[in-house]
Amino acid sequence: MYSENNRNQEKELEQIIASSPNYRTEEEAIALASSGGSTVDRQAARAAVAGAFREELGHAMEPGAKVMSADRELRYCLELQRDRIARKNIRFTEEFDPGKKPVRSAVNNVRSWQDGHYETSWSVGYINHKKTAERSGMKTFKRKDPQSICETVIDVRNGEDVSGDTYCCPNCGAVSTIRELQEGCSQCGTSFHMTELYPKVGNYFFVPDPGVSTEPIWKTVTRCGLCSLPVTLILFAPIVLQDPSASHSMISTYTPENWVVPSLARVIAYIVTMIVASPIIGYFVWFLSLFFAGFKTLGKETPAALSVGSSRKRFASRMATISPAYTFETFSSKITTLFRILVFSDSRESLPFNAVKELGTDLDDVVDCTFHGWMSCKKIKVENNNVYVTGDVFVDTTRDMGDRLKVKSEVYQITAARRTDVPFSTNFSIARIQCPSCGASFNSFKSKNCPYCGKECEPPKEEWVICDVKNVGKKYLFRRIFWIVVVIAILALSVFNMLHSIHTGIR
Ligand SMILES: [Zn+2]
Ligand SMILES: [Zn+2]
Repeated sequence: MYSENNRNQEKELEQIIASSPNYRTEEEAIALASSGGSTVDRQAARAAVAGAFREELGHAMEPGAKVMSADRELRYCLELQRDRIARKNIRFTEEFDPGKKPVRSAVNNVRSWQDGHYETSWSVGYINHKKTAERSGMKTFKRKDPQSICETVIDVRNGEDVSGDTYCCPNCGAVSTIRELQEGCSQCGTSFHMTELYPKVGNYFFVPDPGVSTEPIWKTVTRCGLCSLPVTLILFAPIVLQDPSASHSMISTYTPENWVVPSLARVIAYIVTMIVASPIIGYFVWFLSLFFAGFKTLGKETPAALSVGSSRKRFASRMATISPAYTFETFSSKITTLFRILVFSDSRESLPFNAVKELGTDLDDVVDCTFHGWMSCKKIKVENNNVYVTGDVFVDTTRDMGDRLKVKSEVYQITAARRTDVPFSTNFSIARIQCPSCGASFNSFKSKNCPYCGKECEPPKEEWVICDVKNVGKKYLFRRIFWIVVVIAILALSVFNMLHSIHTGIR
């Protein structure tokens, strides 16, 4: 059914592009000719975008901020999140401090994937991520995490960079560069439907990384030592309180019957012992806390890791025959961002990509939603010229509970669909968006209804549509408990074995 209609539309688009004045200055033309989209230059452009994103994301929640290094979806998602936080009267501050000195520099192109049209790569930066959220009557929310920030940089494999080309607004005649028109004409507000100006960051996630912490180790150890002081004070009390003439068995040490009023010399000995012992104990406590943090992460990530492991392959082999335009990374990046737009939007029914029948109010109190870095692909089916992909998205949500904010790990099952009869193109196109009823221009990507006359406009056929969203956290909770039990059992068994062999060794 790739019909007359589509062909006509394409023709129309071509005419619009052809008829639009495209002033390219001589200087720019030379620059384009010399760079010509070569691999090296694209790499540099991708690295620049990843760097700019880390800078912009730290300010994304400030009034009026536009994260231009992010693609259209992610940019809109961050705007919606900022609006929700503002509506909930929360004062939110975020700080991305580069962490340890000397600063660990970001690594670009850690991994990359190619499909028919795109090259998707990961860039990793290192940050000390500070977050605070305040509101009167609410417990202040404070977090400081040393993290790696992983960005999914999406780029076209062979595209011409047109972002510096000039374009004449068909409504007011103002001349702007294509780059400046991404958020509409600055003179008259006309919105445009245009191809994304890649490279852009399409998704991001954070991974705990103790290596980023700016705190020197002696400080950490002292802090842990001070925290364990109440315990060590009691533990070492016998040194000062015990009668020196009493027998030195462990049990008598702890019997208060032997305790005496200490001499000054012994009090001094006690204080010295505490000063010496505290950092050592602090070190052990710190070490144990690292162990438990690792253990917690293992319990949290194992089900997701196992679930996502085979997804990449399954998606690639199945999609290759249906629509080779997407790698798993490009797809999962797109779908998670669309899901987050759904989370933060207050008028979900007017989102052009939203076909979810019943979403309820489950997501209305979410003020932050960070992707875990996992998305697993469960099912792919083709029906009536549509491909339906079902996958599980792993997120950490921060919810407004009224008197406090609560962070929770959650899993949502999402089904997304795309037309299989609409061809895929990355050729650059730009067209003014006009309401077919009243002629007004509005951003039809943000809302399918014209804000002036309310007329519903048909969403673009080449985009993914979200058909279903389900909270499936419980399913994974049981798996998580299972894996924790397995790990504990293995640990217990090995300790038991060790003790047993020591025991038989002694005998
Ligand atoms: Zn204009
Ligand atoms: Zn209208």
